[in-house]
Amino acid sequence: MIIERKQPKPKTCKNPACRASFVPQRLGQAVCSPKCGLAIKDVNQAKARKSLAQVERREIKVRKEKLKSRADHAKEAQAVINRYVRLRDAHLGCISCDKPATWGGQWHCSHFRSVGAAAHLRFNLWNMNKSCSQCNAHLSGNIMVYRPRLVEKIGAEKVAWLERNQDLVRHEIPYLKRLKSVFTKKAKRLEKRYEGFGACAAM
Ligand SMILES: [Zn+2]
Ligand SMILES: [Zn+2]
Repeated sequence: MIIERKQPKPKTCKNPACRASFVPQRLGQAVCSPKCGLAIKDVNQAKARKSLAQVERREIKVRKEKLKSRADHAKEAQAVINRYVRLRDAHLGCISCDKPATWGGQWHCSHFRSVGAAAHLRFNLWNMNKSCSQCNAHLSGNIMVYRPRLVEKIGAEKVAWLERNQDLVRHEIPYLKRLKSVFTKKAKRLEKRYEGFGACAAM
C-alpha cells in the first residue's frame, strides 16, 4: 500500500523585508525562519506602541478641549472667520485706505464695529472686512474712511443696520464650535478655488 503524503503548499514569508517563498513545517507557520519571526515581532511591537501613542494623543486632545472656556472657543472661531473674510475679500484692496489687492504686506480682518464695543457683531460677515495691517492695528480700523467704503461695498441700509444693532447675543460653546467647523470648510473651499490664481499668496 502506498500512502500518499500531501506536500504542503509553499507560502510567502510574512516578513515584509523578506517575502521569500517557503514550505511550512508546522501548522500556522507564517515566516520562513526564526530570524524573520523576530523581525515581525519587532514590527508588531512598534505598531502597538504607535497606536498606544495615538490613543494617548487623542485623549490629551479631548481633555484639552474640555478645559477650553467659552472665550477660548470664541477666539478660535474668530481666527477662522477672520481668515475666511481675508479669503473672501482676496480680490479687494483695504476697506479703509487705497492699498490695492496686490499690496504685499500683511492683511487683517477689520471689524467695522469693534469686538470690544459690539461683541454681538464679532462674527457678522457685513461687519468684517479685509484691511491692511496698518489701518487695522495702528489706526483702529481707520473708521472715518472705512464707513463710506463699506457703504459702497454692502449698501447704506446694511451699514445702518450694523450701526443701530444693539442685540444682546451670547455665543454659547456649541454655536462657537459649529462656527469654527463651518468656516474652516468655507475657507478651505475658497482656498481651493483660488489655487493656481495666486490670488492669496500673501495669506
Ligand atoms: Zn523570511
Ligand atoms: Zn489700509
